[in-house]
Amino acid sequence: MPTIRQRIETIYDEVVSRNPGEVEFHQAVKEVIESLEPVVRKYPHYAEQKIIERICEPERQIIFRVPWHDDKGEVRINRGFRVGFNSALGPYKGGLRFHPSVLLGTIKFLAFEQTFKNALTGLPIGSGKGGSDFDPKGRSDAEMMRFCQSFMTELYRHIGEMTDVPAGDIGVGAREIGYLFGQYKRITNRYESGVLTGKSPSWGGALVRKESTGYGTVFFTEAMLKAKKMDLQGQTCVVSGSGNVAIYAIQQLQALGAKVVACSDSSGVIYHKSGIHLETVQRLKEVERKRIKEYASEHKDAEYLEGGNIWTIPCEVALPCATQNELNGDSARTLVANGCIAVAEGANMPTTPEGVQVFQKAGIAFGPGKAANAGGVATSALEMQQNASRDAWSFEHTEARLREIMGNIHTDCYRTAEEFGAPGNYVHGANIVSFRRVAEAMLAFGLI
Ligand code: NDP
Repeated sequence: MPTIRQRIETIYDEVVSRNPGEVEFHQAVKEVIESLEPVVRKYPHYAEQKIIERICEPERQIIFRVPWHDDKGEVRINRGFRVGFNSALGPYKGGLRFHPSVLLGTIKFLAFEQTFKNALTGLPIGSGKGGSDFDPKGRSDAEMMRFCQSFMTELYRHIGEMTDVPAGDIGVGAREIGYLFGQYKRITNRYESGVLTGKSPSWGGALVRKESTGYGTVFFTEAMLKAKKMDLQGQTCVVSGSGNVAIYAIQQLQALGAKVVACSDSSGVIYHKSGIHLETVQRLKEVERKRIKEYASEHKDAEYLEGGNIWTIPCEVALPCATQNELNGDSARTLVANGCIAVAEGANMPTTPEGVQVFQKAGIAFGPGKAANAGGVATSALEMQQNASRDAWSFEHTEARLREIMGNIHTDCYRTAEEFGAPGNYVHGANIVSFRRVAEAMLAFGLI
C-alpha cells in the first residue's frame, strides 16, 4: 500500500508525463499538491474519489487560429487559447493574455492557479484562462481592433455569462475588452454585460476593477504585517513591473504611508531613492505607452538600470508584480540579506520554488499570488454581481468590499495554516482552504 506522500508523487509524475514540456504547469501543480498531504490524511475520501487527479486535469481546452490583417494589408496568423479548468464553484473565470511567450502550457498553469485563487475569494466563480501568442507591442489601434475582432469571432461560441467569463491580463486592458465585447455583441445579437469583465465603467464595468489587483495585494500585505504587529507606514518598498498591477500597488502603498523606491519594465529598472513619482509612471505607461527608461530623463535624481535586477535594491517590502519566475533563489537571498520582512506576489507565480523556500526559511511573511493577487478576480466577480442585478456601485462601496474580501482571504489562509500544523505558511494555508472548497463541491456533484 503506497503512503500518502508516494501517492502524491505518483500523481505529479503522471501530470508531467501527460503534459510534456509544460514546465510552468508542472511547477504550479507541484506547488499545490505538495501542501495536500495533511489534508488527504485527515480526509481520506479525497484520495478514494481521486479528487487531486481530477483537479489536475482541465475540463476543456480550446486552441484556434486567429487570422488578421496588419496595417500594410499583410495577412498575419496567431494562435488563440481558452482553457476551462474547473467549473465546480461557478462559470469558468479568468483573464486573457496577449504576449508572444504564450503557449498552451502557460495558459494551463495560469488556469490551474486560478482554480485555487477563485475559490479563495469565497465567491461563486470557477476557473479558466486564455490568450494568444499575439504581441501587442508596437501595434496600432486599428490592428488591435482587427486582432480582437478575429479572436472573438471564434471565442464567442465557447463563452457566456453562465459558462465562461474572460477578463484582461498581460496585454489585455480596457481597450481590448471593449473591442472584444463589441464583436461579441455583434455576433450574438445580445447585450450580455456579464460575458466579459474588466469593462469600462461607462458601459457596465465595475469601479475599482482597474485598481483592484494592485490594491488587493497591498491590503493582503497590510494584513500579513498586522499579524506581525507591524504596518506599512514608512516602509521602503520595491515593486517590479509598471503595468496595471504594479501601478495600483504603488498607488495604494503610497496611500498607506509607504515609500516606493523602484519599479521596472522588461527592459530595465528605475531606482528613485527619494520616492517614485507615480503620475509620471502612469502617464508614460497608461497614456503614452512608452518605456520606463523615459522616467529617468524627467527625474534627474532617478537612476535607470538597463537590464538591471530590481531585487538588489534594499527594501522592507517587495511586491513582484510583473511576470512568472521573475524572482529566483539568488534574488530572494539578496532581499533577505538586505532586511526584507514581507513579500506579496502581485503577479502570478513570480517567485521560483527556490525563492519561496528561501523566504520561508528566513521567516519572512510570504503571500503567494493565488491569495495576494485575488483582489482582481474578486472585483471581477463583483462586476458580474452588478451586471446580473443591473446595478452600479460606488467606488467607496466596491473598495470596501475588496478590502473585506482580502481580509477574509488572509484570515482563512492564516488560520488554516495553523490548523494543519504550518503556522505562518500562507502557501499551505491558501492551497488547503481553496482545495477543500473545490473538492467539496466536486464531491457533491457526483463523478464530474
Ligand atoms: P501588464 O501587461 O499591465 O504589465 C506587465 C508589466 O510587467 C509590464 O511593466 C511589463 O513590462 C512587465 N514585464 C513583463 N515581462 C517582464 C519580464 N520578463 N521582466 C520584467 N518585467 C516584465 O500586466 P498586469 O500588470 O495586468 O499583470 C502583471 C502580472 O499580474 C501577471 O503575472 C498577471 O498574470 C498578474 N495578474 C494580473 C491581474 C490583473 O488584474 N491585471 C490579476 C491577477 C494577476 P513590458 O511593458 O516591458 O512588457
